[in-house]
Amino acid sequence: MFGLALHGGAGTLPRADMNDAQERRYRAGLAQALSVGYEVLESGGTSLDAVTQTVVTLENNPLFNAGHGAVFTLDGRNELDASIMEGSELRAGAVCGVTHIRNPIELARAVMERSDFVLLAGGGAEEFALTCGFEFVPQSYFFTAARWRQLERIRSGDTSLSALTIAHVGTVGAVALDRGGCLAAATSTGGMTGKRFNRIGDSPLIGAGTYADNRSCAVSCSGHGEVFIRTAVAHDIAARMRFGGRDLAQAVREVVLGELPARNGEGGVIAIDPTGEIVMEFNSEGMFRASRKGGGEPHIHIYR
Ligand code: ASP
Repeated sequence: MFGLALHGGAGTLPRADMNDAQERRYRAGLAQALSVGYEVLESGGTSLDAVTQTVVTLENNPLFNAGHGAVFTLDGRNELDASIMEGSELRAGAVCGVTHIRNPIELARAVMERSDFVLLAGGGAEEFALTCGFEFVPQSYFFTAARWRQLERIRSGDTSLSALTIAHVGTVGAVALDRGGCLAAATSTGGMTGKRFNRIGDSPLIGAGTYADNRSCAVSCSGHGEVFIRTAVAHDIAARMRFGGRDLAQAVREVVLGELPARNGEGGVIAIDPTGEIVMEFNSEGMFRASRKGGGEPHIHIYR
């Protein structure tokens, strides 16, 4: 058995702001990333490679709030966060506040595999990238007109629901189970539009935005990072399975439909367990998401 699920962010453009052409573009982006990761698993590759390549594909797509399409900080820059984890030995790597790395998820993986550390920030992460031979891109690589317009709305003091919703839409992530029975999870983001510089969300924090443990599940989150950190969402789901006797669907629902809304935390998660069970749950209007189990059909959804 093997399986893969991915997300392109919870929150979702309000239905009224999404036209057919836009919806087709998002669906195509999700389908492309799904097929990249699925092929890795189908050909016997590891869950770690599957989530890495899935997230790289989404980071390269300007529609999503990660890599190329990252949102802007209040002062008009792009600061990117990413993390990755595998479930057999609980190895993990993460970077936060990087500004010149094309694919932050690859740097997070390098931190896991080529350093003694789990989380490297800002200049330290980029200096490490230099020693690993990573290609650097100018900040202009992350400029997209749509994200700039979103920043201008926030700067103008627009507090309408649609402005606040788009402020954090588009974070990407993937979870996978490979034929060898190993789980992995990866998450990458530009954070939230108009965030204060050097603000770090849940996405690069192991246990908050990302977690993988072969004894329970692999989880990748998207949503209002501050609440996800306080709730330790990804680890909470894994712990409910491991210590509380919950199955994957129960654990996910208790956290996403219980703990998070109780603290006004909007967002969702994708998760997979060692049997290949996949759950994608959210308390927002929608979540860009896709999944495919070994031998099964691809599923791609945006709204409920
Ligand atoms: N969780 C991300 C953050 O707070 C944003 C998101 O997933 O929409 O940085």
